[in-house]
Amino acid sequence: MNILFDYVLFHFRQVYHLPADLEISYGLNGQSRLQIIPTTSSFFERQQAQPVQVFWKEWQGTNMPLFFNEATYQPWFTQNAQGQVIVPYDIIASAFYLLSGWQEYYGKDRDQFGRFPFKASYQARHRFITKPLVNYYFDILREAVEVAYGQKIEAKLWAGKPFATCLTYDVDYCQTAWKVAGKPALQKGNIKLFLQLYLKHLKGQDAWFNLPQVEQELQALNAKGTFFFLPEKALYQGHPNADYDVASPKIQAEIKRLKSAGHEIALHGGHGSGNKARQLRQEQEKIGQPVQGNRFHYLRFDPVKSLEVLEEAGLQYDSSLGFPERFGFRNSYCHPFRLFDFKNRRLSSVWELPLNLMDITLNHPNYLQLKPEEVMPALTPMLQEIEKFHGVFTLLWHNENFTPYALPQGLELFREITQYVQKRGTHFLKAQEAVQFHS
Ligand SMILES: [Zn+2]
Repeated sequence: MNILFDYVLFHFRQVYHLPADLEISYGLNGQSRLQIIPTTSSFFERQQAQPVQVFWKEWQGTNMPLFFNEATYQPWFTQNAQGQVIVPYDIIASAFYLLSGWQEYYGKDRDQFGRFPFKASYQARHRFITKPLVNYYFDILREAVEVAYGQKIEAKLWAGKPFATCLTYDVDYCQTAWKVAGKPALQKGNIKLFLQLYLKHLKGQDAWFNLPQVEQELQALNAKGTFFFLPEKALYQGHPNADYDVASPKIQAEIKRLKSAGHEIALHGGHGSGNKARQLRQEQEKIGQPVQGNRFHYLRFDPVKSLEVLEEAGLQYDSSLGFPERFGFRNSYCHPFRLFDFKNRRLSSVWELPLNLMDITLNHPNYLQLKPEEVMPALTPMLQEIEKFHGVFTLLWHNENFTPYALPQGLELFREITQYVQKRGTHFLKAQEAVQFHS
């Protein structure tokens, strides 16, 4: 009846073990065990990027914004004499607004790479980038179902474990440590380091030709990873793509070895591919292996055009949706979800594995500039949210950040983060496995 409701309910069903005969209606019908009163706002009939008003209401100690209701003192839900549970707040509309990425589709703001900027987001304006609000709305709905059915509703776990972790690697650089890291060293007078890197490179073993090192780290965690290879080599408007040729025997040998060790090979769509289906398809073919997933280089997901590009390329999932500027929850949700097709107003076929943290976000001059010792204290609350809602933590670490010639203490930070989630009992999964797990 209502695409908003169907879209949200589809995802609600993904994360909980619900009664088979679940009766929820979006509107008062005097019958269903659970009835949610829809907003009277005409917001979704217009093409406005952001709601005008926000009101905050507490749910179990967390102050939560609602975008399509006026403030009232009513409880989150009530049960009537017939046992029906009525939710007077339109949490469906608020959940849909965030999960679908409405603000990005209808918002006009873009940065120099065509990305929707964090600073234009509602998450920035109301400071909830590290709160997965859609999961909180679902938690309210879960409790309403419990009351309506008089039974406990359990969240779906990950092979009995409380949350999942996807370790992913964008392979941008494989053979230019001597140049990208070596030349600045030379300029600073560190001739020894430059020579060391240059000689390694001449022997065909550039310091960033280090995928076996990444594999060892995975092995130590008893985990398999997902490697996104970048098939585009040419500079794009002065911006670098890969420093290697994905079709070369040397890289093909890496791909085959990773694959036979059980890791996943995926596509890292080059600059410009986010809105060009033909380009993405051509890049996909260059990998020489079937791939199910994509992440755009520089996270260049075009909120208006990328979905169509991904569908045309026949890809099952994307994992570009994280803000480069901040770690957290870009769509305010900590599980895989199906992208919303705004053009046709339907649930699309493409899954999104939301990206929570990219290594570069931590210390890039335009981003957070955290000191290594500040990283874990900053990340822990976000990781606790994922654990609390039994979601997925997706981490992107570039292979060069396993060497001492890139992100300061990159290897140590990777170990700290992954050992933390391992201690918390996470289930490590490849990206494609996580997307498919509950679907
Ligand atoms: Zn990249």
